[in-house]
This record gives sequence, C-alpha cells and structure tokens, in this order.
Amino acid sequence: MAELSDSRKLGFGFLRLPLRDEEDPASIDYEKVSEMADAFLARGFCYFDTAYNYHKEQSEAAIREAVVKRHPRDSFLLADKMPAFLVDKPDDFLRFFEEQLKRCAVSRFDFYLLHNLGSERYEKMKRLGAFEFMQSVKEQGMAGEIGFSFHDTADTLDRILTEHPEIDFVQLQLNYLDWESGSIQSRLCYETARKHGKPITVMEPAKGGALARLEPEAEQILKEYDPGASAASWAIRYAASLDGVRMVLSGMSDMAQILDNTSYMKDFRALNEEERSRIRRVRDILAASQAIQCTNCRYCMDECPMNINIPGYFSFYNSAMRQANFIDMLYTRVSHGHGAPWDCIGCRSCEGHCPQHLPITDYLKTISEYVKTHAL
Ligand code: SF4
Ligand code: SF4
Repeated sequence: MAELSDSRKLGFGFLRLPLRDEEDPASIDYEKVSEMADAFLARGFCYFDTAYNYHKEQSEAAIREAVVKRHPRDSFLLADKMPAFLVDKPDDFLRFFEEQLKRCAVSRFDFYLLHNLGSERYEKMKRLGAFEFMQSVKEQGMAGEIGFSFHDTADTLDRILTEHPEIDFVQLQLNYLDWESGSIQSRLCYETARKHGKPITVMEPAKGGALARLEPEAEQILKEYDPGASAASWAIRYAASLDGVRMVLSGMSDMAQILDNTSYMKDFRALNEEERSRIRRVRDILAASQAIQCTNCRYCMDECPMNINIPGYFSFYNSAMRQANFIDMLYTRVSHGHGAPWDCIGCRSCEGHCPQHLPITDYLKTISEYVKTHAL
C-alpha cells in the first residue's frame, strides 16, 4: 500500500493539465497526462489530487484514465474534494461522493476534503451536516483521512479546527510571496494549523505559476546561488521545508515540470539559511512589483454571465505593469472569444468565489481604463 513519506513530499495536482485546445479546459490531452503520471510514479511519487470542478468537471475522468485504469490501486494515493459550493441539501453529500467514486472508478479515496471552506460556507456546511457526513465515510472505510481546503482568515481556521477536532488534516495556500499577506494570511493560517497539531497539505506553492516565472532582477538572486535550479523549485522547497507540511501539491502542466519537480523533491533537502535569506529578497522585489495577486485558479470564471476572462486580464495587467514586451499581443490573446473588461455588469458573482478575495470589479474598471488609454 502506498504511504506518505518525507522523501515523496510532492503531489500531482490535476488542475492545470495539458489541453488539446487551449481555449477549452475540458479538452484534456489524455495521452500526455498518462505519460506524465507514469513518469511521476516511476520516480517514486504517488500522491494525486483532483476535485469535482477542475477542468470543467473532467479532472476526475483524467485521474481514472491516466492513473486508475493504468496502475494498481495500491501503487498511488488519491485525494478528492466534496464540491461544498454545489451542496444545497443534506442528500447532496452522498450523491456527489458516489458520483466522484464512479468518475474516478475507485471504491475509496485515501484523502477526502471539503472543498474551499471559508466563514460563510463553513456555516452552511455545518447546518447541512457536512462534518457528520465526512466522519461517516471515514468510518465506513471509504475515506482514509478527512480534511478541508481553506481560503479565509486564520481566525476562521482556528474556529473550524476548534469546533471540529475530528478533522485529520488541512490543505492551505502557502507560498513565500503570500507569507505575510493581510488577505491570504499564509503565515497566520500555517501557525493556526500547527497550533491544532494538524498535518498540512500545501496548495499553490508557486502561486499559480507566478513564482515560476520571475522578473530578471529577482531571478538573478536565485541563479547566482544555484544556476541549475528553477524558480519553481525554490517555491516548492520553501513550502516543503516548513515543519508540519507533509505534502506539497503542484499543478504540473507538462513533462518538463514533472521532470524538474521530481528531480529535486526525490531526495528533498530543506532550505538552508542562505537560501531563506535569498527568498526574502526575492519576496520584497515581487511584492513591490505585482499589481494584482491573482493565482489563476479560475474559480471566478464559472460564474461570469459576460464570459470575461478575469484571470487573463489580470495576468495581462500584471505584465503591463512590469512593462513586459508584446502587451498588445497579450491583450488580443486573453480577450479573444471573451467579453471585454468593460462588459462587466457589476453583478459580483465572481467575487464570492475568489479565494484571494480580490476586488475583481474594481480591477476590471482599472484595466478598462488602461486598455482604452493605450488604445490596445
Ligand atoms: S461582476 Fe463582472 S466579472 Fe464578475 S461575474 Fe459579474 S459580470 Fe463577470
Ligand atoms: S480573480 Fe480570484 S478566482 Fe479569479 S482566477 Fe484570480 S484568484 Fe482565482
């Protein structure tokens, strides 16, 4: 039976998989994903993470096709998440859970989480009996450990863990850029989980790829210490070096990322003091330069009646603020087939789904002005 161990602290998140059509998140390239999963397993890693809604609800099917059908069940660990945001009545829990088992073609999940808890959703989940349901699937052997992924303040995390000590682990958004962020509260949430003695799974260690592509000034600080190490490796090792972190998820999109991540995580080495100091310097540069702290999770996209490419425009704007080249081309690409930033009708459906609590509508107004002013 596959087991967690320190030498395999890297998990493969099925949320940014290679696509056959870049415009269609459901068009997963199974052949490439299968090759990536094979390579990941062959290098001694075994943890896969999926969710009901990833890739327009096709991520679990990709797990089934690329992993479950092609490898013995005891050779990998599988984490899945109850789509708490879709649950409206107590019966929904079992309905979704059974559907997820079927989609993945498994009889149990090794790790099962309530997806994306925050203060409001927590109240709803309590009312509908989510925690009793989680406990019941664990007692019946259909879930190995139970937990929740979390996107809110440390105070709320403290309340949930105080009221629900039966929770086995938490999944937190921890990365070096958000460590002291007032809205994301990486450090405070980490310390809260540690206070309650809960093992931590880290998501977004590279902030949706933002820490894998650094500007030259920041990259230079890392390269002069270790020329061969990727920027992503610093971000993932930063998260994996924290006490109590037992798994770091990476949403790998191609074979190069699999090979890079597994190369330094196979014989994991925690950051030394010099490396930590360099990351602090990089953090200062990035914090000063990134205009919008969007992780490209795309949760907001499902809700927009105007089909506005919110993360695309935010990425465009961050690049524009960094004075990147080819801004006009980038704008054309992100706006293609989508509503313009000024098409936003201000319904704010998107904002309630943003784990980063970004003022999306305000940002879209700023971006509208920028685009019009620069005649893009
Ligand atoms: S507020 Fe604007 S961007 Fe957000 S969902 Fe509504 S129309 Fe879309
Ligand atoms: S705006 Fe928020 S929800 Fe949308 S992609 Fe960015 S971080 Fe995710």
